[in-house]
Order: sequence, then C-alpha cells, then structure tokens
Amino acid sequence: RNGMFLGNRYESTATASDASDSPVEKYEYQAEVTRLMDLIVNSLYSNKEVFLRELISNASDALDKLRFLGVTQPELMKEACDLDIRIQSDKDNGIITITDTGIGMTRQELVDCLGTIAQSGTAKFLKALKDSKDAGSDNNLIGQFGVGFYSAFLVSDRVAVSSKSPKSDKQYVWEGEANASSYTIREETDPEKLIPRGTRLTLYLKRDDKGFAHPERVQKLVKNYSQFVSFPIYTWQEKG
Ligand code: ADP
Ligand code: MG
Repeated sequence: RNGMFLGNRYESTATASDASDSPVEKYEYQAEVTRLMDLIVNSLYSNKEVFLRELISNASDALDKLRFLGVTQPELMKEACDLDIRIQSDKDNGIITITDTGIGMTRQELVDCLGTIAQSGTAKFLKALKDSKDAGSDNNLIGQFGVGFYSAFLVSDRVAVSSKSPKSDKQYVWEGEANASSYTIREETDPEKLIPRGTRLTLYLKRDDKGFAHPERVQKLVKNYSQFVSFPIYTWQEKG
C-alpha cells in the first residue's frame, strides 16, 4: 500500500470470514474524534433522535455533490440510478439502514471523512462547545451546529458504512463501535451488499434504543426532516 492513509494504521489482519485478498485493516481515530464522540454521547443523551436528521442531511449533501459535480464530470453519473434516499427499518433485529445514491466515498475518503475531523462543521462545533464551557454556560449547541456522522453512536452499538464512489471500482466498508478508539476498513465482498453508487449506513441499535427501528417512529422523524431535503426519501420495514 502507498502510505497515503491519514489514519494511524497499526494492524492489518486477514480474518477467516474474509477472502484472503480482502484484509480487514484497523485504524485509530484522530484523538479529537474520540473526544468528540464522548462529548456527543454525553451531552446529547436526552436528544438522541437527532441522529436521523444528521444522517439524512449527509445523504442529501452527498446527492447534492453528485448532482453538482456531475455537470462538469458526467462520468460520475455513469451509473443510471435515481437520486434518492432509502431508509429501511428492521424492528425485530433493531437495525436501520440508510442508503443514498450520492457521491459515495473512496477508501481514502472513508479514512479522511470518518476518522478525522478535518472537515469544518464538526471542528466548529468543538470550538463552540469549548467557548460555551469557558463562558460558563451550557447552551444547546446542537441546534446551531450539526454534530454530524458520529451522532449515529447516540443510538448504535455498531455502525457500518459501505460506500461506492464513482471514482473507484471497489466498494469499501468502514465499521466502528461505540466507545472504541479504533475502526476498521475492508473491501465489500458480499455480492448482495454491492451498490452501484453511493453509501449505505447500517445502524445496529443499542438494546435500549431498538425502538427507533419501529416504522412509525422512523416515519415520524423522517417527515419532520424531509421538508429540508430536495430528494425523495423512501421508508419501508422488514416483514416480521
Ligand atoms: P459534515 O456533514 O458537517 O461535513 P459529518 O460528520 O456529518 O460532517 O460528515 C463528515 C463527512 O463525511 C462529510 O463531510 C462527508 O464528506 C462524509 N460523509 C458522511 N456521510 C456521507 C454520505 N452519506 N455520502 C458521502 N459522504 C458522506
Ligand atoms: Mg453532516
């Protein structure tokens, strides 16, 4: 491999469940990410449902990026799939999946975007949180700043992000657990899980949060947020 990974890769293993050409690689989060995840989980425990707003907004951003970049780079749109967001809930197993057909992430982008806080929104949130602590006030900053992807861990023990960028011919899976200091990346090898383009998040809900996978609950939350999203959002449930 080429040493370009920003993540601190400290272990590389091929496990029995993976094909030998598809190792699971383990990375440590940037220290700020671990701090941010702790902050989010500790300050938002009473406002957990924001996770869905954040993840829908990421899906919508990814679709916006594809639509925008596709104007000058039509090759990004070569997969003829609709621009939409699909949310599937499985209440019996406590699993929610959120799939978009947006710009997706390459392997390197998974490391950069989900293992560091290089990107701006989250960095601003951290700064604002620090300033508010310095000022001795405990404002509700969540309304002002999106807390972003890591809010998935408000309700999830484990999160898998399987992504297919039109810039790469391979699909990769980022996988992380709540309260962990590391995450893994591997190639998606299960043919049933391959997507033509975009990103699929799978949330394995915490025992006490499995109620979020109830279809009525998902639909209610989606209805609240969908007015800000200019792409169709479809919801459906696993048959019990
Ligand atoms: P923000 O949305 O403020 O940038 P997030 O923590 O929500 O911060 O997301 C971090 C980054 O991860 C995004 O900027 C984007 O690059 C990437 N990302 C997250 N979700 C998706 C997605 N569904 N598709 C493509 N990229 C994504
Ligand atoms: Mg976001």
